[in-house]
Amino acid sequence: MSERDVTVIGLGPMGQAIAGALLDSGHRVTVWNRTASRADELVARGAGRAGSVREALAASELVILSLTDHDAMYAVLDPAADALSGRVLVNLGSDTPEKSRAAARWAAGHGAQYLTGGVQASPRDIGQPGSFTFYSGPRAVFDAHQDTLRVLTGTDYRGEDPALAALYYQLTMDMFWTAVLGWLHAVAVAGAHGVSARELLPYASPLLSGLPDFLAFCTPRIDAGEHPGDADRLAMGAASVDHVVHTARDAGVDTALPEAVLAVFRRGMAAGHADDSVTSLVEVLKRAVA
Ligand code: NDP
Repeated sequence: MSERDVTVIGLGPMGQAIAGALLDSGHRVTVWNRTASRADELVARGAGRAGSVREALAASELVILSLTDHDAMYAVLDPAADALSGRVLVNLGSDTPEKSRAAARWAAGHGAQYLTGGVQASPRDIGQPGSFTFYSGPRAVFDAHQDTLRVLTGTDYRGEDPALAALYYQLTMDMFWTAVLGWLHAVAVAGAHGVSARELLPYASPLLSGLPDFLAFCTPRIDAGEHPGDADRLAMGAASVDHVVHTARDAGVDTALPEAVLAVFRRGMAAGHADDSVTSLVEVLKRAVA
């Protein structure tokens, strides 16, 4: 077993891309997947096929997990847990910060070290410049393996707490999914009026790519807990969202998304923020609705 040995467990689109990039960079890659046929192409390219999870764990100190979530990780590794001792698990599967902490404790209980990873890339970006992955867990373990991990994407080490990489990953997903759904909703409303997604694109793209300026303006104010209504007022925003809801309703389009947005604006108004900036909604969002 050498530093060139890497095991990849989980060969969905992401695991296949990871194993492929490691092969391309000259690593000796051992793969295992529940559905064995998903390993065929990688084996044809030179990967070793492990006949069992235990065999996969025995092949390398560094074991990269690319499974759907932590439930899948336990389903795969629990039956072979006695083979985890001395291994470094790098879990690139998505799940919550709390589950990442629990997984690190579970791994330590079996004598394994554990890094959490949150991949900010699609499978086709793996091995290409420009993307990165959040990592967290013991610094020394990250340092010892970051040359190998850099084969996949750039690295952004967030700290010792194994929850941190999962937290940053979920924060980006929180923003990504709501932004994408907002765009898709506008596409649906446009479509109801015979306007195609292509026709909307020249307006959608500048709107979204203008957000960094807005974020840069608002961020220091948010961190200072200040939400002056000098540039915008929540009451104006609430009226605007109300118009969006009615535009969708008149077009016969689903209104669940803008209605959910309007409900948050109305909670902000009820909390006395009508004359504050829309950023005051962060104070409303900090508290779970009872
Ligand atoms: P898939 O869901 O397509 O693949 C998941 C893998 O998990 C498969 O190998 C599957 O095995 C395995 N699996 C799931 N459940 C079990 C189980 N109970 N027992 C054994 N094996 C199981 O995911 P991706 O490859 O797309 O992604 C992997 C991880 O990477 C996910 O957590 C995802 O969130 C994250 N990610 C993915 C990105 C993407 O664009 N794809 C981008 C960034 C992160 P089988 O083949 O047998 O079904």
